[in-house]
Amino acid sequence: MSWIADLLGPFRGFAVTLRQAGKPRVTRKYPQEKREKPARFHGRHVLNRYEDGMEKCIGCELCAGVCPADCIYVRGADNPPDAPVSPGERFGFVYEINMLRCIFCAMCVEACPTEAITMTHLFEMSVTDREDAIYTKDELLVDVDGSPNHPQEPSKLIDLEELKVGDGWMMATSPSGRADYEGVVAWSPSARTGLQPGEAGQSVADDAQTEETPPEAALEDDADG
Ligand code: SF4
Ligand code: SF4
Repeated sequence: MSWIADLLGPFRGFAVTLRQAGKPRVTRKYPQEKREKPARFHGRHVLNRYEDGMEKCIGCELCAGVCPADCIYVRGADNPPDAPVSPGERFGFVYEINMLRCIFCAMCVEACPTEAITMTHLFEMSVTDREDAIYTKDELLVDVDGSPNHPQEPSKLIDLEELKVGDGWMMATSPSGRADYEGVVAWSPSARTGLQPGEAGQSVADDAQTEETPPEAALEDDADG
């Protein structure tokens, strides 16, 4: 009878509550308890530099073109011959990311030909003004010594050390057109924030080593390092 079902309805609800009451809690008391992030977590972006301090971004706009949320704005300019900013012909003189639009998919990281843009483990960056959610080049670009910038002060929530942790993404390395490396498959992790050494076989310093080291061994050494 329907009036009996109506009468028992609330007790059924309490039964569900009582069944769950004794079980271990699966939620956490964030921010008092922070969960360890997975190695491939995608957090805030950084713009990286080479070891000599030059900017990696060449202003090619590939990251802006591939971004599904249309949240990157880049403008490239010719490098001044007497004081180049990047090793290429051009550099990114305007670089902005609207973090309110970003879906943290890392497609910009995959598209970037120079590993200029990478992602970190910092995601605590809430703001009260929409303007503050637009990260400019000053905030994204690491300092000459490789240390990252952030518009907010460190706090219990904002651990700036997380800006130095890379997103753990792996990419196939380019053989740079060298016949020695034809058919050799190698992978390298996406750059962590800071100054990264060049890959084996891809810098003048490593050329001497690869003269006498088979390509496979050189790449394994590089992956171990
Ligand atoms: S992570 Fe995705 S959505 Fe965010 S800026 Fe990069 S490509 Fe765009
Ligand atoms: S971050 Fe990379 S993909 Fe984007 S403009 Fe700079 S070099 Fe090109």
